[in-house]
Amino acid sequence: MSASDPIDTNRLSRCTSALILHTAELARLGQTPATSSNFSMRLDALRAVITVSGRDKGRLGPEDFMVVDFDGQAVGSERRSSAETGLHTQLYRRFPEVGCVLHTHSRNQTVASRLFAEPGRLRLEGYELLKAFAGNQTHETAIELPILRNSQDIPALAAQVERLLDAGPLWGYLIEGHGLYAWGQDIAEARRHLDAFEFLIGCELDLIRLGAAR
Ligand SMILES: [Zn+2]
Repeated sequence: MSASDPIDTNRLSRCTSALILHTAELARLGQTPATSSNFSMRLDALRAVITVSGRDKGRLGPEDFMVVDFDGQAVGSERRSSAETGLHTQLYRRFPEVGCVLHTHSRNQTVASRLFAEPGRLRLEGYELLKAFAGNQTHETAIELPILRNSQDIPALAAQVERLLDAGPLWGYLIEGHGLYAWGQDIAEARRHLDAFEFLIGCELDLIRLGAAR
């Protein structure tokens, strides 16, 4: 199979429709301010569909998506994908089971990524919702959400992510002053992970605002 082979257009339109639905919801929730954020789904063993950068994520149409190979290069299009495409495609390349990557910029995510930038991780412990992460059977556990320094050097960021994945398991990570990446085997699981992170990050910030000891 080659990345220039014909694309399954039924799968492409199903993926695009699902992404339009979820991005509109996330936009309404305030998680994609000012045309930020990007979203993708795996099409097959070599390609993914991803949002074109710079579009209002609350009003996407089928024309606001493009196909890329797992090196982040456009397939069948002159468009340029988002600079961050490499952070999506590295997950598809590494994990055949990853089917969807969601990247948002909510206020909670952005604030927490700065507040916890120095330890470089946000520890989430004792929450029932930890069971939302695939493979976690109990709330009697802790997970560490890593926080990477922001950089426009996407290959360097991707290399840091690879090291985190080596140490795995991992369901997502924050980038400082930027936002969250979350993924899953399909869009439902990726969304569940993203929603769980958003909720738990919000809880941690509320505990701090309320003066609870950490
Ligand atoms: Zn971003």
